[in-house]
Amino acid sequence: MDRLFLEAVPILERIEEAGFEAFFVGGSVRDYILGRPINDVDIATSATPLEVKAIFPKTADVGIEHGTVLVITNSGTYEITTFRTESGYTDYRRPDSVKFVRSLTEDLQRRDFTMNAIAMDKSGKIIDPYMGQLDLLQKKITTVGNPHDRFSEDGLRMMRALRFVSQLNFHLEQETFNSLKKNGPILREIAVERILVEFEKLLAGDNRIKALNLLLESGLYQFLPQFAGQKDNLKKILFLPINLLTVNELWAVILIYMNMKDVEASLRAWKLPVKTIRSIQRILQLVKKEQAFEDSNLDVFKAGRIQAVQAAKVKAILNDRNVLEAEKSMTLMYESLSLKHMSDLAVSGEDLLTWHKEKPGPWVKEYLELILEAVLNLVIKNEKGEIKEWLNRCNLI
Ligand code: ATP
Ligand code: MG
Repeated sequence: MDRLFLEAVPILERIEEAGFEAFFVGGSVRDYILGRPINDVDIATSATPLEVKAIFPKTADVGIEHGTVLVITNSGTYEITTFRTESGYTDYRRPDSVKFVRSLTEDLQRRDFTMNAIAMDKSGKIIDPYMGQLDLLQKKITTVGNPHDRFSEDGLRMMRALRFVSQLNFHLEQETFNSLKKNGPILREIAVERILVEFEKLLAGDNRIKALNLLLESGLYQFLPQFAGQKDNLKKILFLPINLLTVNELWAVILIYMNMKDVEASLRAWKLPVKTIRSIQRILQLVKKEQAFEDSNLDVFKAGRIQAVQAAKVKAILNDRNVLEAEKSMTLMYESLSLKHMSDLAVSGEDLLTWHKEKPGPWVKEYLELILEAVLNLVIKNEKGEIKEWLNRCNLI
């Protein structure tokens, strides 16, 4: 068993000693069977949240109404969720009621896909009532039960299906794909924040081109923010080497291909965090600059290493140039800048005020920028004496 499971075995044992059942479930068991790296283990139990809290001295209520208690131990922090069923779903997203149950099989039945409905006990024995292992073997994404019903219950599952295609290089079982084509409008009922989480996982996955193609072919794209009517534009992206891009770089490419004029509004519609929006906006500003930013030491300095490299990669994609080479050469260019931070400059605003005897004003900043540019372009050395002489020669002081 993986180290993360072994470390958590004592947790399962404690729950069992108290007279309840406990299993590893969900993504970690799936990834373990697939031989993929595991990030965190989820535990499901027959004990109710209150019973779980009585077993462990240190817990936190993170989602107690859904049955989840956070158990904090020396070996780590674990989400322990009571076996439950869900019913209702009148709004296509959240169950009207969550019912705690004592049977593992019932709990596994409420899960989205057969590959995510596999449990493992403390000795490594697999419990797989919905034949998830067979689907794993066949690289197939199959809903637990009728796909139409399961997608109607929670439309987000359709986006999850596609993000698993992207992460795992699986395909959709035929009925599941057909149902995706029919149930797109249900996505309208889902909170954009939840869609965004799955979509960004899709964009980050190794098989993003395959998953994006399914997004277009199933028609689901029409129900994503800003994507309606953009099939032809989005399709073009699939012919680019977008696997070499980070998620933010890919957002920039998507916006360019969709001819989005108001970048901020488009990304806000996706509920992206403001910090991410700013970062994508900066990539686009650099890419669209009339005078190539990569020809200017000052522009690259101002952009900073990360933004400059991101913009260089996006530009390379758009101009059908080698992305990795663009990344390498921009990294080199940044590394060879004679300065990395304004504070590295050998003179400060104070120096200028002493030398020039003018009242403080916007000129200080302007002069500093002139000096910065001269130093970056190796016109002068970054040295107080030389800078002063240069200012003198230029009749600036
Ligand atoms: P990851 O490795 O990315 O975390 P995951 O499969 O663990 O993938 P989570 O969102 O962490 O995904 O969910 C944990 C488990 O909860 C899933 O494996 C699945 O069994 C169940 N699950 C999550 N979301 C849904 C959903 N919308 N409908 C039904 N079951 C779900
Ligand atoms: Mg998970």
